Amino acid sequence: MGKTIAIYPGSFDPVTRGHMDIIERASKTVDHLIVGVLVNSAKSPLFTVEERVALLKQVTAQYPNVEIRSFEGLLVDFARASGAHILIRGLRAVTDFEYELQMSQTNQKLDPNIETMFLTTSIEYSYLSSTTVREIAAFGGDLTQFVPEAVALELEKKMNTKGECNK
Ligand code: ADP
Repeated sequence: MGKTIAIYPGSFDPVTRGHMDIIERASKTVDHLIVGVLVNSAKSPLFTVEERVALLKQVTAQYPNVEIRSFEGLLVDFARASGAHILIRGLRAVTDFEYELQMSQTNQKLDPNIETMFLTTSIEYSYLSSTTVREIAAFGGDLTQFVPEAVALELEKKMNTKGECNK
């Protein structure tokens, strides 16, 4: 059997401790984990894709089998091009379930050779989302328990340059 290569896709705008938990656990279960940072997305992101990739590289440097790459277009195409047969997603609560089920079934139809595997969030991060983190940052709240230190620093810088800090 060849190496198991998995992709953990997302926006990571920015990467949180919840994502880090999934990255660490997934990296222990596969040979090679590619964190796929979505370029397009209808949303206008706070961090550019280059910034999101750079931050992820910095905070995952300790995991030798984790690679960070950006991608556009269909996830199954990116997976095929990367030689990956597994997609990793995190499930926080039942509210994630319907959307994730729909996505995984669609991807299954698009390419039956690619399986989606779900990791349930560690309980201490089940409430955490990038959206919440961006909101706390916008109001100058303490971010250290939500994101890695390097991310907290970048968020502070970003808020200062954007003049979004309401304090
Ligand atoms: P997307 O825009 O695709 O939802 P995100 O960057 O928000 O991208 O999330 C990427 C993946 O990480 C999703 O599978 C999501 O369920 C998971 N995830 C997000 N936040 C957490 C968390 N706090 N704990 C575990 N998994 C999470």
